[in-house]
Amino acid sequence: MTFVVTENCIKCKYTDCVEVCPVDCFHEGPNFLVIDPEECIDCTLCEPECPANAIKAEDDLKDGESQFLELNKELSKIWPVIAERKAMPADAKSWDGKPDKLKLLER
Ligand code: SF4
Ligand code: SF4
Repeated sequence: MTFVVTENCIKCKYTDCVEVCPVDCFHEGPNFLVIDPEECIDCTLCEPECPANAIKAEDDLKDGESQFLELNKELSKIWPVIAERKAMPADAKSWDGKPDKLKLLER
């Protein structure tokens, strides 16, 4: 199993999650983070750290969220590792909980 970053991280990207990961499996893109499913050891530490509740266990993904497992897998191969927290985007709070953010994902 792995943990997966899902849609609500897009344009929120608070990065609270990255500091707790013992194996540095978060990767950073322009407005989204992903977890490398091949590195994740299922420690569960990151899930409660996310203020946007965007991190889910693979087995808890709802219908329609399975595409995020594929997206985490694909983008973690391309994007660089992030292991230190950084300032969130200035408008992050205004995007928290907004629907249909997948189309806003920047690669
Ligand atoms: S804490 Fe949540 S919203 Fe922030 S970068 Fe991590 S997964 Fe994305
Ligand atoms: S579950 Fe653990 S190993 Fe996997 S991404 Fe979260 S903190 Fe890292």
